[in-house]
Amino acid sequence: MRVQSMCNTDTRDIKATVKQILELEKAGCEIVRVAILDMEAAKAVGKIKKQIHIPLVADIHFDYKLALEVIKQGIDKVRINPGNIGSEDKIKAVVIACKKNKIPIRIGINGGSLEKDLLKKYGPTPKAAVESALRHVRILEKLNFRDIFISIKFSDVTPMIESYRMLAKKVNYPLHLGVTHAGTPYMGTIKNAIGIGALIAEGIGDTIRVSLTGDTKEEIRAGFSILRAVGKRKEGPEIISCPGCGRTEINLISLVEKVEETLKLIKKPIKVAIMGCSVNGPGEAREADIGVAGGKGMGAIFAKGKVIKSVKEKDILKTLLEEVEKL
Ligand code: SF4
Repeated sequence: MRVQSMCNTDTRDIKATVKQILELEKAGCEIVRVAILDMEAAKAVGKIKKQIHIPLVADIHFDYKLALEVIKQGIDKVRINPGNIGSEDKIKAVVIACKKNKIPIRIGINGGSLEKDLLKKYGPTPKAAVESALRHVRILEKLNFRDIFISIKFSDVTPMIESYRMLAKKVNYPLHLGVTHAGTPYMGTIKNAIGIGALIAEGIGDTIRVSLTGDTKEEIRAGFSILRAVGKRKEGPEIISCPGCGRTEINLISLVEKVEETLKLIKKPIKVAIMGCSVNGPGEAREADIGVAGGKGMGAIFAKGKVIKSVKEKDILKTLLEEVEKL
């Protein structure tokens, strides 16, 4: 399961695009997509590829010449819908180039832009979206091309889940999951966690993108958190923390925020429990790699199931981070 993001820079601005991809890489991004709007953007692909370290996907609408150019430039995957390319000769040219260079094609269906006849027949429904995807698939299969990925994105979670379920019953191709136009990091993460999470829990999906309106790095963070929550990834920190209540005697919220912020780029799999009291706290703290159970102006620090020391409240953060460092 790979986590993907998409640049929001102008692809023709090579410097800005490379800068953003390198930042995404640092955040853990494993595949990145760029929009190819014209020939200048297509020709920038080679230069961008030379400066990055993760696979690059070109997002192309309609223009087969742009697809041929990005393939020439060494792209790793092309997202283009064959049914929108035009004449069969043009589709064939793209397919031949992809075959020769072993480049997969991602068919990307968007619930907001389905074909008119399908909309008339089924309305903007999962049935229409799946039928649309299958039309594009059949075009490629007719040309004996099977290196295909498919995505069907809706901005609503329910039709998104239903579409992928239907599609997974009909094809064996790898599926790219995501709720599109999902909104700001808060609501967008919730929508994607439900949509992507439900499908992954059923064994559906191969790559994911959490599309968010905001810093692209947040997409990666959300993507990994979703994978971790459904047990598909172990890397990175998992913070267990209680909500706090009348028993809490330390400044719990600020402590949790600081720990989360400090550990957010850590790659090693680590479970940190931050609990507000000594009633229910020790249980969780004992189960984690590192934990703290708060007391009156102090915290009992746990490592691998045992209390290793008690420290003053002002030293809890420092001590927790030191123990994480030792792991
Ligand atoms: S762990 Fe303790 S402080 Fe936290 S919510 Fe439970 S009882 Fe309250």
